[in-house]
Amino acid sequence: MVLQARNDVVLLLGAPGAGKGTQARVIADSLGVPHVASGDLLRGHVRRGTELGQLAKTYMDRGDLVPDPVVTDMIVEQLDRPEALRGVLLDGFPRTVSQAEALDERLADRGGAVRAAVYLEMPTADLVERLAGRLICRKCSASYHQVHNPSPSGSACGVCGGELYQRPDDRRDVVENRVAVYMRDTLPVIQHYEASGALRRVDGTKDIEQVRTALRSAVGLDDLVLAAA
Ligand code: AMP
Repeated sequence: MVLQARNDVVLLLGAPGAGKGTQARVIADSLGVPHVASGDLLRGHVRRGTELGQLAKTYMDRGDLVPDPVVTDMIVEQLDRPEALRGVLLDGFPRTVSQAEALDERLADRGGAVRAAVYLEMPTADLVERLAGRLICRKCSASYHQVHNPSPSGSACGVCGGELYQRPDDRRDVVENRVAVYMRDTLPVIQHYEASGALRRVDGTKDIEQVRTALRSAVGLDDLVLAAA
């Protein structure tokens, strides 16, 4: 089993548009841990108009990264939540080597570690098109693609019936910057976890079910089922 204790963490790494959010919810449910998505938390702050939200918005609107210390503190706070008793699955964090180092350090201080850093690999050429066609549910954050993964309920969410919308930062000009920022700042994070031995690669170009199966195996859920059998 991959996750057993508070401050044990699984990371889901990959470019924006690689399908992390869609998969992360299901995998976190199967692991029985909270799905902590930095982007969702930041959008929550923006919606509520908090001080952090007002600061973050100026970066998010341009597709730039919110400063490291702000995001790192926001994420580390989540490890103390009562639901995080058996760890958390982090999605969208860390996005810079400095965030990764800060996370490793803070986890080590608390007797935990990154138990697996799962990298959902996707050719960068596909990313702009995938993001620019993306639709998100306002209520439950489920993610669809106008062409590749349309909602079975048309313009409503197939999970909860909520309204689907295009994120403002999924506009083509902002998307191009987000992909450039990913290549410059976040690809080195993959190398960071490759060097530490925590990295597990999953081919993100396969269909949703195949990716889910590969992810389950990468986070040790198959072993769990075998052990229970
Ligand atoms: P996402 O929903 O993960 O695509 O994130 C949306 C936006 O939130 C990003 O384009 C960044 O502006 C910001 N953001 C999310 N996670 C991070 C992070 N780990 N570090 C810095 N900025 C972030």
